Amino acid sequence: MATTKKRDYYEVLGIGRNASDEEVKRAYRKLAVKFHPDKNPDDPHAEEKFKELGEAYDVLMDPEKRAAYDRFGHAAFAPGGIGFGGGFHDPFDIFREVFGGGFGGGIFETFFGGAGTRTEDRHRGSDLRYDMEITLEEAAFGVQKEIEIEKLGICDKCDGTGAEPGSRAVTCPTCRGRGQVISSRGFFQVSQTCPRCRGAGEIIEKPCPQCRGEGRVEKRSCVTLKIPAGIREGSRLRSSSNGEAGIRGGPPGDLYVVIHIKEHKVFQRDGDSLYCEVPIPFSVAALGGEVDIPTLEGKAHLKVPAGTQSGQMFKLRGKGISNIDGRSRGDLLARLIVEVPSRLNAEQRRKLEEFAALCGDDNTPLRKSFFERAKEFFK
Ligand SMILES: [Zn+2]
Ligand SMILES: [Zn+2]
Repeated sequence: MATTKKRDYYEVLGIGRNASDEEVKRAYRKLAVKFHPDKNPDDPHAEEKFKELGEAYDVLMDPEKRAAYDRFGHAAFAPGGIGFGGGFHDPFDIFREVFGGGFGGGIFETFFGGAGTRTEDRHRGSDLRYDMEITLEEAAFGVQKEIEIEKLGICDKCDGTGAEPGSRAVTCPTCRGRGQVISSRGFFQVSQTCPRCRGAGEIIEKPCPQCRGEGRVEKRSCVTLKIPAGIREGSRLRSSSNGEAGIRGGPPGDLYVVIHIKEHKVFQRDGDSLYCEVPIPFSVAALGGEVDIPTLEGKAHLKVPAGTQSGQMFKLRGKGISNIDGRSRGDLLARLIVEVPSRLNAEQRRKLEEFAALCGDDNTPLRKSFFERAKEFFK
């Protein structure tokens, strides 16, 4: 059986080997839209190409996978290879992720301009975007938020029908409810949207005075949002049907919430890992001991081995942020900074001088190896 040779990932995306993440993303966006199977129902190769793109994106956006690929090529991901045998993410998941994932068909339709011309679609309310700032703790553990937004909501007076209470919408006499009128041009009959009801098939005899027949008015609405634990900066959540109300009872749009995470005083986040710097007294670094490390839940104890150097990093397993899939949790990386006392009293100073007099080269391993390496510069 002939196997086709796998194409180079950089070639698949049409980018150079030094392409930045941004360039990878841009190339992927362009091509993934072009080859999305939904857009190419008649092209049997589209799905294959789409998968290939997803795979290339998956590898080149992941620093570890990309490094392995640069070194070993496709062999890096072969079964029994160097540890990436687990396969790739689903290409459709990747697509959803890049284009604002998990929102079902809605965004996809808007994206391809596929929004239909059915009356229902034309009367659908607009989608709204809301930018929300949350703390790192809220992002880590999840949170429920209530927000107030000013938007077009259903008119209370007419209940969204657009007709004055007591009156109602009646079948459009011009098109008899069909929404289309047929006019004759010579031999031809042309079907056109009814000019009187604009295709709706019904008209309102007495429009509601509060909404002027639209069925919706500007008002404040409360929306409760559940933000899942592990959410990342820039994620978009869809709050279904919480966008603008539709026209005259049409379906509502959706509300898209874009998450922004505030900078934290102590921690920096990198994916699911947290990072912080913790100063420790130089005596603890030299003698060993226990120090408190801040965590999102309070504090943890860390045993510091004797002879710890400034800048050394310690990993507190599972004290990072839960992955959004809920199956794993990241680590907390604490970098210990050894602090030199800035003011010494007379006795401390004397003891330290005694200590200095006792010190030989064996006590300064870094310094010793540094001078070893720098020897020739001191000639
Ligand atoms: Zn009204
Ligand atoms: Zn009509």
